[in-house]
Amino acid sequence: MSEKAEAMYKESISNAQKILKGKKENFARLQREVINQGACVSCGACVASCDQLAFEDGKPKLVGKCTVCGVCYNQCPRTSTTQPEQIGAYIAAYTGKSKLDKVKGQDGGIVTSLLLYALKNKIVDAAVVTSKDSEQPWKPVPKVVTSEKEILESSGSFYSHSQVVPALSKAMRSGYKSVAFVGTPCKIDAVFKMQNSPVGLVHLFKGTNVLRIGLFCMDSFSINGLHTFFEEKNGVPLTDITKMNIKEGKFRVTLRNNGEKEWPIADLDSIRSSSCDFCTDLTSEKADISVGSIGSQPGFSTIIVRTNAGMELLNKAVKDGYLEFKPLSEEDLTKVLNIGRVKKNHRYKPRDKPLFVLESPPCKLDGFAPSDSQPAKPLVKFGETELVGKGQSKVRVTLRNDTVDCLEDLKVRIIHKGETSEDVVAWEILIPEWLSSQALQFEYPRVEGEKEYIFEVQNKKGDTVFTKKISAVDLTKK
Ligand SMILES: Cc1cc2nc3c(=O)[nH]c(=O)nc-3n(C[C@H](O)[C@H](O)[C@H](O)COP(=O)(O)OP(=O)(O)OC[C@H]3O[C@@H](n4cnc5c(N)ncnc54)[C@H](O)[C@@H]3O)c2cc1C
Ligand code: SF4
Ligand code: SF4
Ligand code: SF4
Repeated sequence: MSEKAEAMYKESISNAQKILKGKKENFARLQREVINQGACVSCGACVASCDQLAFEDGKPKLVGKCTVCGVCYNQCPRTSTTQPEQIGAYIAAYTGKSKLDKVKGQDGGIVTSLLLYALKNKIVDAAVVTSKDSEQPWKPVPKVVTSEKEILESSGSFYSHSQVVPALSKAMRSGYKSVAFVGTPCKIDAVFKMQNSPVGLVHLFKGTNVLRIGLFCMDSFSINGLHTFFEEKNGVPLTDITKMNIKEGKFRVTLRNNGEKEWPIADLDSIRSSSCDFCTDLTSEKADISVGSIGSQPGFSTIIVRTNAGMELLNKAVKDGYLEFKPLSEEDLTKVLNIGRVKKNHRYKPRDKPLFVLESPPCKLDGFAPSDSQPAKPLVKFGETELVGKGQSKVRVTLRNDTVDCLEDLKVRIIHKGETSEDVVAWEILIPEWLSSQALQFEYPRVEGEKEYIFEVQNKKGDTVFTKKISAVDLTKK
């Protein structure tokens, strides 16, 4: 290595540190978001950027002290650290609101105002929006609209999937030449593909121009789930809710009597649409213009302009007094970028919890004594337990690989201890491959006269790498 080149290399690291100063990115974040998730490709970009890191067992490890300079995190091909990686390509970002009194939007009423302007000025002859169902409250109903009244009636957000693409196809088949399409990122993706794939139906049809107005989106929920959550669990009739909103980790509703209620968003986890687990686009990256609330004050919307068509529509609507805007500040843009990064990380979250169903009878373990001591550094973590099956006849437990590695050839034992020391039975399962952070579920039938269950995991050498005892009373109390 030449001394000159070595000095230049050190200087580039130091320059990167200067640029990243204050960002508080560190190796622990790289470990949490990439390595622990099993997404590390062992490229070594992080190790090459810091002498405090080294490969151990094929994975980067901290071998010295981390100064939280963030250089390693910003070299990794699996993190999203640049603006295009976090929110897609764009021309400009603003914050703004409608100037029309009649518009009562979800946030700044930007989408509704753009639609009103586009329709009034014949930029589009129809719009695909989502409106209320007259029978089932909060069920989104996709619609092709052509009047100011219908556009005003369709403002606000419905937090469930709206099947808007068939409405676009209806608009095309009705002969509309230019249609504004409003959708969440997943629906904008569908339309973008239909416009750009060689076999896409919007592309092949050629008769209709589609202007894509994308919404920001972090989650959506099943409509039946919303019914169960609000009406059955919390005694709030859906007909009493006039507005739903997600802000700062809370699901807030405004009620007919102007009261408000809120729940941590995590309380609605079980009714969250499974499709959203796979989603990495916060800001409708393939839209002509994207609108959301993150980054703006209450009553304002964040506007990200991505194409010339989007910019022209926005500028004309501002010129004609439909809405007002100013550039989004650096600080507010950073809020959007940060949440954009969080959503990109969805791709590395292990989702499935493979279920191992164990049948009776378990094997008898004569003279078997489960180990009494917990290993110094257990490789596995104990998760939730629940009683399942007819008459709660089975127990389901979750164990998680608590390491940054894929564990191989493990033996999981679920041991039942009865009244006497001889009264021991066990189920044994071999796990050939257990991914980093992955949760596995084990379901086994309860044993008559159950007293205590012990969960043990052994590696292929026979060493105990995890053990946990739980009394049947505690188990059934949960
Ligand atoms: C499911 C969902 C999740 C969202 N999550 C976030 C988030 O996490 N962070 C964030 O900043 N913003 C989020 N938004 C966007 C936000 O709620 C507003 O839609 C956005 O800020 C535009 O506000 P506005 O006042 O300009 O819209 P408005 O002028 O009120 O217009 C809203 C438009 O969206 C249409 N619409 C309503 N519901 C749907 C739907 N389900 N599918 C397709 N179109 C619909 C309406 O028909 C209307 O045309 C979400 C929106 C939805 C629908
Ligand atoms: S000191 Fe090293 S390990 Fe810590 S953030 Fe900087 S580059 Fe990464
Ligand atoms: S840069 Fe990222 S992918 Fe490459 S070795 Fe480091 S953590 Fe793994
Ligand atoms: S999170 Fe993604 S998949 Fe879910 S509704 Fe929003 S854009 Fe669609």
